[in-house]
Amino acid sequence: MSRHTKIVATLGPASSDLQTLERMVHAGLDLVRMNFSHGEAKDHVARAATIRDASARAGRPVGIIADLQGPKIRIGRFENGRVTLTRDAPFILDARCELGNGQRVGLDYKDLPKDVRPGDVLQLDDGRLKLTVQRVIGPEIHTTVKVGGELSNNKGINRQGGGLTAPSLTAKDMDDIRTAARIGVDFVAVSFPKSAADMYMARQLLRAAGSTAMLIAKIERTEAVANLDEILEASDGIMVARGDLAVEVGDAAVPALQKKMIRAARDRNKLTITATQMMESMITSPVPTRAEVSDVANAVLDGTDAVMLSAETASGQFPVEVVEAMSRVCLEAEKSSEVSLDREVLNRVFTRIDQSIAMAAIWTAWHLKVKAIAALTQTGSTALWMSRLNAGLPIYALTPEINARNQMTLYRQVYPLLMSQTHQDRDVLLWEAEQVLLEQGVVDYGDLIVLTIGEPIGASGGTNTLKIVRVGEHHKPGTLDDPV
Ligand code: PGA
Ligand code: MN
Repeated sequence: MSRHTKIVATLGPASSDLQTLERMVHAGLDLVRMNFSHGEAKDHVARAATIRDASARAGRPVGIIADLQGPKIRIGRFENGRVTLTRDAPFILDARCELGNGQRVGLDYKDLPKDVRPGDVLQLDDGRLKLTVQRVIGPEIHTTVKVGGELSNNKGINRQGGGLTAPSLTAKDMDDIRTAARIGVDFVAVSFPKSAADMYMARQLLRAAGSTAMLIAKIERTEAVANLDEILEASDGIMVARGDLAVEVGDAAVPALQKKMIRAARDRNKLTITATQMMESMITSPVPTRAEVSDVANAVLDGTDAVMLSAETASGQFPVEVVEAMSRVCLEAEKSSEVSLDREVLNRVFTRIDQSIAMAAIWTAWHLKVKAIAALTQTGSTALWMSRLNAGLPIYALTPEINARNQMTLYRQVYPLLMSQTHQDRDVLLWEAEQVLLEQGVVDYGDLIVLTIGEPIGASGGTNTLKIVRVGEHHKPGTLDDPV
């Protein structure tokens, strides 16, 4: 239980049976991503049931992220499934074309010809092929091939520099939001948002469908980078979606953006997931490359809450081994990561009582070098604030709410635990909290811990008490048993 950085794995054919999922959970999986670009509602419902089952069997919470497809702009299909484009040859993207060939192919986003100008570079299949726009004639975009290669059915198109106008939430996304609500997912990730408005709209639809899921904005468009502040404000977290982002802003710009975005998110009490090609070679190899090990470790050092696996676990040959490898790399990177209370954050002025208590707890824990922090929390917000500061200490978040517990699977350094919290008496509750931590084996009698709690008991957003406790110091309230 000592790894602080969380691991997200994308589900797919290679990771949908109960047995494999159970092995992945044992290997350290914290959350799964269900990719709504593939499969139907009933597949997602079945998958979610299997993951909840695997989580229960392993006795370890696993969060569920529903990742909406969004307006990925794609070409249509070819007569023969694929063609090969050669450099400098002409090629037409034709909104009216039904079945493509070596000269032209259709478009699923019919307005694309209105969005492009001569000189634009269009990137196909995550940037593997490039076309330069020569002219637009009605529904036809005439291009020449800049970088050729094989092109098969339904590959994605991006414009270098961004600026395509397709709306961020498609009709399919709106349906999928309802499916996600029905499943009871813990997070919804919105693909290709351009502004805060896209996130507000997703949140409204989600709440209307009865879901309390947290919202993750996938930063994968040039406009989203420019609007990062307002998007952060409107979201609970972001995904550094390096696949599409690299196509839009150029691959070389991504590493620095990753650092900047993680920093900005943490400063605003938001969550981060670093995604795409983290251990890509493990799709077919049982071990990662040196470069992949460095990439995962660097994301940990950047302060990401979670690192994500995509095709590695969705369709790869080593879905369990890749989780093990990632876990191992995160643990080692955390050992070397500098633990220091961030000056900037400590100098900030807090006006909320619960937030001030969270900061005070981290401050106290850091100076007293306590064994652990325990936060009795309803919604998990106390634990979120605590986890934005790197005190190098585990934060045990004790909550009676299953939803809060599952959402906290994404918070770096936070270990969510269920605890009934039915007692109205504070001493009984504190004693029970100690028992939960003792049962989990995370503290021993005599350890110093910092506890936060809200009084009156049971109200959310009411954390107002900080207590420094030596475990076992208290008798079980109302008894004379010596607990030691
Ligand atoms: P995707 O998003 O896997 O849904 O495309 C992640 C990314 O673009 O990096
Ligand atoms: Mn993407």
